[in-house]
Amino acid sequence: EKFREGLTKTRDNFSNKVNDLVSRYRKVDEEFFEELEEILIQADVGFETVMELVEELKKEVKRRNIQDTKDVQGVISEKLVEIYENGSADESFQLNIQEDGLTVILFVGVNGVGKTTTIGKLAHKFKSEGKNVLLAAGDTFRAGAIEQLEVWGERVGVDVIKQAEGSDPAAVMYDAVQSAKSRKADILICDTAGRLQNKVNLMKELEKVKRVIEREVTGAPHEVLLVLDATTGQNALIQAKTFKEATDVSGIVLTKLDGTAKGGIVLAIRNELNIPVKFVGLGEKMDDLQEFDPERYVYGLFA
Ligand code: GDP
Repeated sequence: EKFREGLTKTRDNFSNKVNDLVSRYRKVDEEFFEELEEILIQADVGFETVMELVEELKKEVKRRNIQDTKDVQGVISEKLVEIYENGSADESFQLNIQEDGLTVILFVGVNGVGKTTTIGKLAHKFKSEGKNVLLAAGDTFRAGAIEQLEVWGERVGVDVIKQAEGSDPAAVMYDAVQSAKSRKADILICDTAGRLQNKVNLMKELEKVKRVIEREVTGAPHEVLLVLDATTGQNALIQAKTFKEATDVSGIVLTKLDGTAKGGIVLAIRNELNIPVKFVGLGEKMDDLQEFDPERYVYGLFA
């Protein structure tokens, strides 16, 4: 239900246009597909993905000998799910959580995308599952970042390991891992600084932070989650490409999906970057974080 609600704007934008298109064109022809392409591009599905999708759609329509536009809608949904899953249906949105011992989750992303909020929401989710959660204030660069994480820590009821602003993030991580071990924490969620201006610095910092975590916890970090703001559209794709070059990203959290009519960006990210979207942010509150499910997403666009 939350998922459906969060997609209201995208759905209104997208499905109304598709419905209108279907009612204007009774017969499936080249012009129909051209207009459909336009609608998909406007929903931020991304040029490459749209071309691929429409190509597939044309083939399927031909194969099934579909003549009537109203019969195409179902095929569009099917193809959207297919494009999303892209031959890797076994790769799910589930996080890699250790059954025994500590799971370390590293968050990356530029400022303002909703990284702190997402960390708070995820901490809340784990805590309500009965897990022992700890946060690491690894963004020592941005003024106020540590305090902001502490506010979320208090709200959710989990402790935050921190040092002074400007201190070495790798040292914060070292401390946080030691604390997590001695408290027998289940989950350690680590914030990092989101500077993109200088890619070399970003890479170095992430590398250093990761190295400490790798050295201190076998198999960690278990997830490196990149937070992207859905309202920034194609810009989010560019950020994702940069971060992908800087570090191994295991999953994406797409925030503010509730605030955009262009929720098609989910498909572009999945298809062009081949990184799974694991969560979507559908609001500012603690429980406004949902696991991403491509089928529910695609069908949520229409129904
Ligand atoms: P950070 O700089 O990346 O840590 O970003 P913040 O966590 O401070 O979030 C920036 C703003 O986006 C805040 O006002 C949040 O309340 C808001 N925000 C974060 N996630 C969502 C979301 O999923 N939906 C909406 N509508 N707002 C969000």
